[in-house]
Amino acid sequence: MNRILPALAMLSAATATAAPPPAASPPLLHATIAKLVGFGTRHSLSSPIDPARGIGAARNWTAARLAEIARDCGGCLTIEKVADRFTGPRSPDGVEIVDVLGVQKGTGDPDRVIILSAHIDSRVTDPMNFTSDAPGANDDGSGVALVIEAARILSREPHRATIVFAILSGEEQGLYGGQLLARTARARGWQVAAQLNNDIVGNSHGSGGDHVDNRVRVFSEGIRASETLDEARTRRAIGGEDDGPSRALAKFVDRIGTSGHGGLEVVAIRRPDRFGRGGDHLPALDLGFPAVRITEASENYDRQHQDVRVEGTRRYGDTIDGVDFPYLAKVTNLNVAVARALAQAPAAPAAATITGAVTADTTVNWAPVPGATGYRIHWRRADGTIWTNRRDVTSGPIVMKNVNIDDNFFGVSSLGADGAESLITFAGAAPRK
Ligand SMILES: [Zn+2]
Repeated sequence: MNRILPALAMLSAATATAAPPPAASPPLLHATIAKLVGFGTRHSLSSPIDPARGIGAARNWTAARLAEIARDCGGCLTIEKVADRFTGPRSPDGVEIVDVLGVQKGTGDPDRVIILSAHIDSRVTDPMNFTSDAPGANDDGSGVALVIEAARILSREPHRATIVFAILSGEEQGLYGGQLLARTARARGWQVAAQLNNDIVGNSHGSGGDHVDNRVRVFSEGIRASETLDEARTRRAIGGEDDGPSRALAKFVDRIGTSGHGGLEVVAIRRPDRFGRGGDHLPALDLGFPAVRITEASENYDRQHQDVRVEGTRRYGDTIDGVDFPYLAKVTNLNVAVARALAQAPAAPAAATITGAVTADTTVNWAPVPGATGYRIHWRRADGTIWTNRRDVTSGPIVMKNVNIDDNFFGVSSLGADGAESLITFAGAAPRK
């Protein structure tokens, strides 16, 4: 028999962790972006060796800044550079792409990895122009500043899982840095629990004249890019289009935001990215890792991928005066809260299943998770997208009396001793024998 945990144990992931970490600092975020803009251009084809101008200088500064943070936490971060050569339409002669990683090794479950990423390269109107000033204050200086500030905050305490702070290159030339990171994760056997890719996260004045500093968008795929044909057939038979691991991650971010930890309303957009556009989370999705893109609520297109110039009264270019630092701090706080909650929780169940066709009850089962002290069964009516019901148990299988399998979707999460909760694994059909 399975014991139902008392209601007191039903802590949400957001309330499970102890005292909240310090808030992100707008002046420190400003200092980082000012420094990055000072390198003139950070185009991926700019000089890798010039000490003052270009992507090499910017990357080196970033690595040095992470090393400073590592010193402040007694060496809790390992700084490394991973590199590979990429050739493509926007780098016809080939280019060495270097990602800078700060790795805070987990104290309890070090193979489980949470990644915070952003891209350091910048561009102007012509994607091949690597000489003109390309300040990239918001795209994606804002993301880089966020990742560095999150490293400063998260490195103040140990975490059960490993957190990787990733500063990527080559995004504008073809998502090269994201590919390199995803391949590195696979080669090292990282169990990637989440990648939060922050790209364009600091502007609050949109092209349409609106001012939005209390919302942020989280883009996710519902159906896994890595889904096999067999898995697609099963999903078409039983549903689950809104419940892939990346969508589960977006819903987790939404829940943390809603609980007030980020001070932001999360808009969980049901798309992998902006319409027809891409980012460094896409290569992670190709390899089957849960990953989302985080982007400001209202973009200013005059400030993205533009030569810095004035036409009449209209100013173009991604300059630092377009960044809203209190807003960027809020998006940073949301990232910190999500990374902290996920790092504390056990892994999500690798698989979950339901059975019970043509009966009144549904039986839910799942793969046990090492380190989990309990599990939470979530369910919702099958015409909705947000989990509405929950039941805490110690082990499976569990018979849900009079909860009809046709009319409900089910999922299972893992719980830690302190109530920290993993992502929710969608319960599908058992594999055919
Ligand atoms: Zn970008």
